[in-house]
Amino acid sequence: MSAALIDSTTAASLISDLVAIDSINPSLIPGAAGEVEIAHYVANYLERAGLAVWEQTVAPGRINTIGLLHGRGGGRSLILNAHMDTVGVAGMDDPFTPRIEGDRLYGRGAFDMKGGLAAIMLAATELAHGPHLAGDVIVMAVADEEYASLGTEAALAAVRADAAIVTEPTGLDICIAHKGFAWLEIETIGRAAHGSRPDLGVDAIAAMGEVLSELNALNRKLASSSTHPLLGSPSLHTSLIRGGQELSSYPASCLLHIERRTLPGETREQIAAELAAVLETVAAHDPQFNATGRVFFWRDPFAIEPEAEIVRALVESAQQVAGCEPALVGQTPWMDAALLQAADIPTVVYGPGGEGAHAIEEWVSISQVATCAEVLVHVTQRFCT
Ligand SMILES: [Zn+2]
Repeated sequence: MSAALIDSTTAASLISDLVAIDSINPSLIPGAAGEVEIAHYVANYLERAGLAVWEQTVAPGRINTIGLLHGRGGGRSLILNAHMDTVGVAGMDDPFTPRIEGDRLYGRGAFDMKGGLAAIMLAATELAHGPHLAGDVIVMAVADEEYASLGTEAALAAVRADAAIVTEPTGLDICIAHKGFAWLEIETIGRAAHGSRPDLGVDAIAAMGEVLSELNALNRKLASSSTHPLLGSPSLHTSLIRGGQELSSYPASCLLHIERRTLPGETREQIAAELAAVLETVAAHDPQFNATGRVFFWRDPFAIEPEAEIVRALVESAQQVAGCEPALVGQTPWMDAALLQAADIPTVVYGPGGEGAHAIEEWVSISQVATCAEVLVHVTQRFCT
């Protein structure tokens, strides 16, 4: 084990500063603060550390901070990515007052993911003061991960690299796969008529009932279908439903929104075909059935080979710095890692531990933020040669 470069006191002070800045995503909670203040804080911090800093406006009031540590040339470049936004704070007593108990730092965003953001800022400072590397290091502190990932999408339009590490919390394990998702919409079309006129009316909600039972059958099939060694089975759930006009009329329309969680290898075309097959099965039993279906939002699943160079480098750095072999794991939630990987940048997720993403009580392990930062310094110095 190497001597500690980054101590817990320094880490705790930086995480506290970040937690104290309200950066709730305004696309989730209308009128919320957004990333402007935290982006300025990150920019000032990285500037003082000696990085070239760019505040990239991705939408009105939505800002990425991108810090660049120029290499001397000829080496591989590496992105360190963390999101600055958080979800809302409903039900929390004092979400922006960081509270330390032992190794735990409590507050909104501490775990998801201001601890990971602090780790890349601490690592960047250390790297700026260390030996001049051949390759560039890009610190990518992004907006809007909790909603539509405008931040990482905009950053990727401007910046490329040979690999990326996203510091979402993993408890110092290395995440090499996560699920993707599709949002689907089905509308059944009926015919409005007076409730007393079954000869004229067609019930769109009852038609959706048939769709729901087909979707249940599909979900049972997915649950028992081929699984991913790290991610389990694919799945779907019906999220939102709306239909009908009033009690005394046949409903003209019923609208259903579905979320389908995907495994690496599943494509948007496959999911669209699966949806079409559900509607065809219902139609085959009901000549009056009339419906449309579409995939209206898609996010790729993420997977990288365990043998990929950035994975191997991170495993070795974690072993040397932390003194034990990190597990290669999968995580269920979608992350910006998929966008980086889809942009042909080999990507891995590695961050500190804690608990309470999107929950009322949220905390991050301070010592793991410090260890994560040290591992990032180590792996960057090895990779950017
Ligand atoms: Zn997150």
